[in-house]
Amino acid sequence: MKQVYLDYNATTPLDSRVFEAMRPYFMETFGNPSSPHRYGRLAKQALEDSRRVVARTIGAEPEEIVFTSGGTESDNLALRGVAYRKGSNRKGHMIVSSIEHHAVIKTCNILEKDGFSVTYLPVDGQGQVDPDDVKKSIRHDTILISVMFANNETGVLEPVGEIGNIARESGILFHCDAVQAVGKMPVDVEALRTDLLSISSHKIYGPKGIGSLFIRSGVELSPVITGGHHEMGWRAGTENIAAIVGFAHALKIAVEDMDVYQKTIFNLRHKLESCVLDRIDQVKIYSADVCRLPHTSCMGFASVEAESVLLHLDLKGIAASSGSACTTGEPEPSHVLRAMGIPSTLAQGSIRISLGRENTEDDIHYTVDVLEQVIDQLRKISSQWSNPSQKAV
Ligand code: PLP
Repeated sequence: MKQVYLDYNATTPLDSRVFEAMRPYFMETFGNPSSPHRYGRLAKQALEDSRRVVARTIGAEPEEIVFTSGGTESDNLALRGVAYRKGSNRKGHMIVSSIEHHAVIKTCNILEKDGFSVTYLPVDGQGQVDPDDVKKSIRHDTILISVMFANNETGVLEPVGEIGNIARESGILFHCDAVQAVGKMPVDVEALRTDLLSISSHKIYGPKGIGSLFIRSGVELSPVITGGHHEMGWRAGTENIAAIVGFAHALKIAVEDMDVYQKTIFNLRHKLESCVLDRIDQVKIYSADVCRLPHTSCMGFASVEAESVLLHLDLKGIAASSGSACTTGEPEPSHVLRAMGIPSTLAQGSIRISLGRENTEDDIHYTVDVLEQVIDQLRKISSQWSNPSQKAV
């Protein structure tokens, strides 16, 4: 049976070139970068070369890049690091968008229990934050604003440049979760005026369990993981050199190939969405009227359950998702679609298709054929579909 992977926002396969770049660091160049001898020096060299590559990609200085275990840890270090930094009072205020990844939202929920207050910014029907709402939410005790570059479910791009300006003018730190954007869109920490920026390697054909946090020089944080003086004291623990080398290599390839990638993937998504709209009734493509990541498509089908759609797609060899992989198994419709005001009947029938380098036109044709059959089949047995008043989207 044909196999089609359409869940690249959840994770990507390792690029074989990245694997080759990592290979020597498992067995030959295995040293601890903190060791003073030759083995250590070789590892240290690879670590610092990789740091330079990551820094260059986002317009930062190498000493502003801290390697972490991925996007989740980077987000935690940014939020908790600001909340608990030296001299901060325990009751500071944070502003975050209501469509952030759970790595941000759940961390904020925990900080609230510890006395901090958090404003969760609303989004409009396309999933975008209004920068005026950011301005209006600022208080005398606001310590951090955190808004993502691109949403992992809809792909919508947030007005992060404007928000960065507001934060800078107000003297408030700005964190941007750029996990889904880096390597797919140009991201520059100067243009964004961001003080903290999270990246993850496994979204860009790099290994899992590695990522980084940009910490603007002069910004003080409290480390979350304490121990030895690794990573300039921001994150203790012996660095995973093979993973770090792979991450930097994956980023380099992604940036070099970005123009071709964007064009090819945009055309594939256009084909997918226009065929779906042509051939299936009562479907809504979310955030279609604003700028989105070129490879992400989130679509809602009236009168079906996303879980059933995904199960039937899987039986036909197609792997898609109903939102973030980190929220799989949660019965509630996605917090992102709820924040956008999507009625729960439609949100429940929403799936995310995220394309990648390996996808072809043939994959798109196959997917649309299967999707058309599956939606038709499920609607035939849906009580909602037989009621015409439920059909409007
Ligand atoms: N932030 C966003 C926007 C994400 O999409 C993800 C992963 O899906 C994360 C953070 C977490 O990254 P990681 O899987 O590297 O912990």
